Amino acid sequence: MSESRAFCPRCGDPVPERSADDESGDAADPLRPGSEVDLCDSCYFEDFDFVDAPNRIDVRVCARCGAVYRGNRWVDVGAQDYTDIAIEEVSEALSVHVDVEDVAWQVEPEQVDQNTIRMHCFFTGVVRGTPVEEQVTVPVKIARQTCQRCGRIAGDYYASIVQIRAEGRTPTSEETDRAKEIAHNIVADMEATGDRNAFVTEVGETDDGLNIKVSTNKIGKKISNKMVEEFGGTVNDAETLVTEDSDGNEVYRVTFAVRLPPYTPGDVIGLADDTDDDGPVLVRSARGNLKGVRVTTGERYEAGYEEGNSPDARKLGEHEDAEETTVVTVEDENAVQVLDPETYQAKTVARPDYFDPDAETVPVLKSRAGLHILPDESASASAEE
Ligand SMILES: [Zn+2]
Ligand SMILES: [Zn+2]
Repeated sequence: MSESRAFCPRCGDPVPERSADDESGDAADPLRPGSEVDLCDSCYFEDFDFVDAPNRIDVRVCARCGAVYRGNRWVDVGAQDYTDIAIEEVSEALSVHVDVEDVAWQVEPEQVDQNTIRMHCFFTGVVRGTPVEEQVTVPVKIARQTCQRCGRIAGDYYASIVQIRAEGRTPTSEETDRAKEIAHNIVADMEATGDRNAFVTEVGETDDGLNIKVSTNKIGKKISNKMVEEFGGTVNDAETLVTEDSDGNEVYRVTFAVRLPPYTPGDVIGLADDTDDDGPVLVRSARGNLKGVRVTTGERYEAGYEEGNSPDARKLGEHEDAEETTVVTVEDENAVQVLDPETYQAKTVARPDYFDPDAETVPVLKSRAGLHILPDESASASAEE
């Protein structure tokens, strides 16, 4: 190897020459013409700027939902408070010199006033084998605004209404609670994918059910389909022209009318069919055709296709109304004597196959159709489907 020496291009001091391997990487940096040879350490550190920070950072934050305005749109950053947002924005805005290795930083937020947080940032790292550190302070100014979504929610904007109703009855609280839950879950799932247009505008109880106003037709459709999938029933949609948008396109609002079936699991119904004398049915499912069990025999019942989920029937009571009563004696395979829970007289009733001959007490329902033994609550869960 020749005795060639390298010199600092700025001050002319000799600098240790680097090995050929090293040279190949750095020497011909086209962005730094004339710097095929590196500056000496002293010249290098004279110019060295570890951290590049703006003088201040202005952030627009939605005061309602905490979204932050970035570029030209609102973004959900999932921040818990304004300090979180300030930290996030500072880490986006600061940059450290590319040569520095092992960079670490800490930040101490100092709340100056309601809308100003001073961020004290402390950086450490290593460059050219020398430890470096720097402290910068960046004030973050928070401007509280209202994002487009929150503005729409506040303005009661909605594109679709889901009406939860039931045939011949009012929806149960289980059904309306579930409808609310489904609506919020669907919106949460869409939000999780970054969709900022998904929201529930309003949930309102009415005399005959529940109205859910939502931001898009798609959400309305999803909610109503899910309700029918879980509870049975039907859904009809109807479009109403509400206005024209600024481009002259017609804007429709869609109403999804969910009609839940007349009977729900747990209802005990008497079928009105004259030819049917097999006794009342405890309803197990109203999805598709109504299904249940005869409380006289324990046999399965399923409504015909024509009847669907609403066979001609009348409601006699609910499993919840059943009272626990004493078994007096088992007469034979078709009959049991139990105490009438009202008169306390022994009464002979039909013996369904779910009746446990060893049971001392059984749940019975007294209705217009007479006294019937119902399946035990714990047994009923696994008995069907
Ligand atoms: Zn130099
Ligand atoms: Zn907002």
